[in-house]
Amino acid sequence: MPRRSPTVRVLVAIGAWAAAATAWVLRMIWRGWRATWRGRSGDVGGARLVGVCLGLGFLAGCLFMWAGGQSPTVRHVLYGEAGELPRPVTEPPPGTAWVRVLTTGYCPCAICCAGSDDGITSKGRDVRRHPHGIASDPKLVTPWLSLDIPGYGRAIVDDTGGAMRQSGKAGIVHLDLRFAGHEQARRWGRRILWIAMPAGAPASGLPPPTL
Ligand SMILES: [Zn+2]
Repeated sequence: MPRRSPTVRVLVAIGAWAAAATAWVLRMIWRGWRATWRGRSGDVGGARLVGVCLGLGFLAGCLFMWAGGQSPTVRHVLYGEAGELPRPVTEPPPGTAWVRVLTTGYCPCAICCAGSDDGITSKGRDVRRHPHGIASDPKLVTPWLSLDIPGYGRAIVDDTGGAMRQSGKAGIVHLDLRFAGHEQARRWGRRILWIAMPAGAPASGLPPPTL
């Protein structure tokens, strides 16, 4: 999970900056009015004041957009859930159900797999031979299922992780997608997708197929 401190520091810095800028603008406005009323020159004029306010507004806008890119919370407020795709409008393929899943990315490195970075998945697959695969909460998404993930491709559920089981307890179907490199995994971020979940996986809510 990402550490929160840089985001909090950024937000505090922006808050402090906004407070200072507001105080400064108010002081300018006060001075401007006083100068106008008393008929004195040599203080901040109206045109200059408008210019300064526009400049500050532009800067504040830029900072806000930048902060939006930094903090998941701000991003959520501004743009809604990142990367959420709508539910498909067609019927799911036979024997499957559309299921809303949270997807994240991981790689076999020590950061992503602290304590279990031996290169072997929980189902015993060697990640050097199988660089792609899916980690799930086995109570929701059965191991060895083959799933089609939009934007990732088709891969086999061959791993699990604490984060998936935690999400599962909260009623969220969470799939962690394995990438060959850390940067690639990080770039995937958090995406909410709808996938065709085969019957028999508890998450699909469908009974197992009768053979
Ligand atoms: Zn990694």
